[in-house]
Amino acid sequence: MSNQVPSFFESVQRNFDKAAKHTGLPKGLLEQIKVCNAVYQMRFPVKIGNDYQVIEAYRVQHSHHRLPTKGGIRYSMHVNQDEVMALAALMTYKCAIVDVPFGGAKGGLKISPRDYTPKQLEKITRRYTAELIRKNFIGPGIDVPAPDYGTGAREMAWIADTYQTMRHGEIDGAACVTGKPVSQNGIRGREEATGRGVYYGIREFFSFKEDLKPLGLTPGLAGKTMVIQGLGNVGSFTGTISQKEGDVKVIAVAEYEGAVYSENGIDVEKLLKFRKDTGSIVGFPGTKTLPKREDALELECDILVPAALENVIHAGNADRIKAKIIGEAANGPISADAEEILLKKGIVIIPDMYLNAGGVTVSYFEWLKNLSHMRFGRMEKRFNHNTYDNLVNMVEGMTGKTVGVQERIFLTRGADEVDLVRSGLEETMVTAYQQIREVSKRKKGINDFRTAAFVSALNKIASDYMTLGIFP
Ligand code: GLU
Repeated sequence: MSNQVPSFFESVQRNFDKAAKHTGLPKGLLEQIKVCNAVYQMRFPVKIGNDYQVIEAYRVQHSHHRLPTKGGIRYSMHVNQDEVMALAALMTYKCAIVDVPFGGAKGGLKISPRDYTPKQLEKITRRYTAELIRKNFIGPGIDVPAPDYGTGAREMAWIADTYQTMRHGEIDGAACVTGKPVSQNGIRGREEATGRGVYYGIREFFSFKEDLKPLGLTPGLAGKTMVIQGLGNVGSFTGTISQKEGDVKVIAVAEYEGAVYSENGIDVEKLLKFRKDTGSIVGFPGTKTLPKREDALELECDILVPAALENVIHAGNADRIKAKIIGEAANGPISADAEEILLKKGIVIIPDMYLNAGGVTVSYFEWLKNLSHMRFGRMEKRFNHNTYDNLVNMVEGMTGKTVGVQERIFLTRGADEVDLVRSGLEETMVTAYQQIREVSKRKKGINDFRTAAFVSALNKIASDYMTLGIFP
């Protein structure tokens, strides 16, 4: 371990090197995969009130082995070039792991959205989009942004509108960005997608008895304790879905304003409503407030879910982490130094590049929807409904019994867009988990899921490069 704290990008590169050793791929090819292909750093003025503000912004395209490149846009005061490069690199590996046919990219604006009115944010977002268009850094077949920390469907709608205004008449223009509002060419199920994917990924881990045994855990999520750090889009959906569909017990939640704890479990949906009404999670009935918000990370629990920013678990606190499993809902929440400490302690890490890939997976569905200009399920929903209806009629005729009205509705329903999106997401997360697990079992010397996930990604990216003929 070096004395210097590794930067985020260095942490990603260190994890890459650790995995690269297990691939047997040529050195030059590994080098090509590892580097960022294009880094665009920009400064542009936006008039705020009576003065001008110079906005520092980035878009990094990490890998062009598949196009378009894909990745979110972050609004945060932590944004810097190193961070955006690390996040772009993670997108490349993430897409490969879940077989989403994109290269990785990421954007960032060094601003705190809280400091601006919606009108001002719109101005900033539209100007950033114009800068991307000018440099050919955005487009349905070039580079397709999406939401990330500090942005959401609203910002994506502004981006799409700016793009389509400036590139008037481009038939696939709506596919220039994903995560749009459903009413503006978005897709049902995108908003919850990352959190839902996190839930599916953790559920998969809890389905293999032999992997749980060394941790003293039984299969199944019901009753397992969870701590969530960060109640943004990802943390809140992870919490509500894990509770509703997995019967998980969320014992603590940490946010910007503090952390709350209850050994009896916290209803995340009610907590979200409480926060909306009062502006804070602190004081939520039935909970104790922890002295410091960081204390939540150090609680005893089965599953710790960091769902905010990178490097929250570092060499300084890794020793005090008592969770059995860490599910990385955020990108890069564990520094490379911390990882070594955690692995020595026997803590299992389900890595970001797999666990939070649900967002980009459903972005891929949205992009396909935009290119096809048609909602999923439109063609087959009625056909399926009629087929099931005929089946039920036939069974009724054969048995002389009739099913109830509610049962018939349940049995004969054709799939809606959201059903298909969720099913595609579940299939993606389950398949990718099995692939990663397979690598970790098959390859000698790999004893953590991050390395296994990296190896799986690197092999796929390498084979893409080879079919492209760059490395004959
Ligand atoms: N920002 C999300 C991520 O880090 C989603 C990216 C996307 O949908 O393109 O994976």
